[in-house]
Amino acid sequence: MKIKAIETIVVNMPMKIAGSAPLLGGKARTSIDTLMVRIDTDEGVSGWGEAFGHRIWPATRAAIDTLIGPQCIGRDPAAIGALVGDLQRNLHGVGRNGPAMYALSAIDIALWDIAGKLAGLPLYRLLGGGLRQDLPAYASLLRYGDPAAVARSTEEALSRGYRRIKVHEIGEAQIKAARETAGPDIPLMVDCNCPWTVEQAVDMARRLSPYDLQWLEEPVWPPENHAGLAEVRRRGKIAVAAGENAMAADFKGMFEVGAVSYAQPSVTKVGGVSEMRKVITLAESFGVEVVPHSAYFGPGLMASLHLIAALVPEAPVERFFCDFDLNPYHDAIHPKDGRIAIPQGPGLGVDPDPKVIEKLRVR
Ligand SMILES: [Mg+2]
Repeated sequence: MKIKAIETIVVNMPMKIAGSAPLLGGKARTSIDTLMVRIDTDEGVSGWGEAFGHRIWPATRAAIDTLIGPQCIGRDPAAIGALVGDLQRNLHGVGRNGPAMYALSAIDIALWDIAGKLAGLPLYRLLGGGLRQDLPAYASLLRYGDPAAVARSTEEALSRGYRRIKVHEIGEAQIKAARETAGPDIPLMVDCNCPWTVEQAVDMARRLSPYDLQWLEEPVWPPENHAGLAEVRRRGKIAVAAGENAMAADFKGMFEVGAVSYAQPSVTKVGGVSEMRKVITLAESFGVEVVPHSAYFGPGLMASLHLIAALVPEAPVERFFCDFDLNPYHDAIHPKDGRIAIPQGPGLGVDPDPKVIEKLRVR
């Protein structure tokens, strides 16, 4: 079997927004872009992958279309380790993180989708997981900046059955609003997206202690300041989560200095299913819990479900808390009563709907 073609497909999904637009990457955002990759084989089996798409997708897409995709044509899609190993070596000079690695992540996910389809098994079963129907999800609220809006979204998430809430806020008033709305029994996480110095983060961790956070995520600038994260964890007496911006090889140093209580590798950034497996194994050896980052709605979310089900079955699934009129995966992205189904078909378990792709596609 050989890889015959690789196509990149971008869909833009307008969000349903009540009130003011949430912030993503520091800017008001009204839609989400998903960069998907389809790998076709000469035997009629196709696989789907996703590369990190938010904001950077034109560069990632170019990396696949011009550089990485062509290197895959004619290769055996079932020899995932061999192909991805060659790609890693060929790409090292163009960057071990960023668009090159996001592109490689999409290719790797699509190859695992093909592997599952060839084996006739859902990916989580192929990876050794026991039969399982669903996983708990947590509502990963977007950033609103306004305590009343945070309270409203928290309430909405709870009313939909979520029993775990994460806010992307950096102000005490907003975090307090989430805790007061959720009550004392709902696990509450805070994702900061790297705003503070170590001293500021330690100070914030202490100020936030009354809100009983399950974790403080990426509190420190820059994200690779692992010693700084360790200090926040130790002096701030708070669980720290990080890893969505790390490449696979960064995790060892992160674990060695005790930077995190929760590691958050991201399947569309870190190198796909293959690298996720390595990071999860490494984390286990250090006694660090893995709770993958999965702010995605395409094959990246599906791959995250399978990885969690197979390898870290106690971890909740991050579900970005926003709604769309239309998305290529229909109900597969929708948790019910706070739980999200693991697609049981072979590979990633479900393919995107081509009719929806045509409607949402960015040309
Ligand atoms: Mg995060």
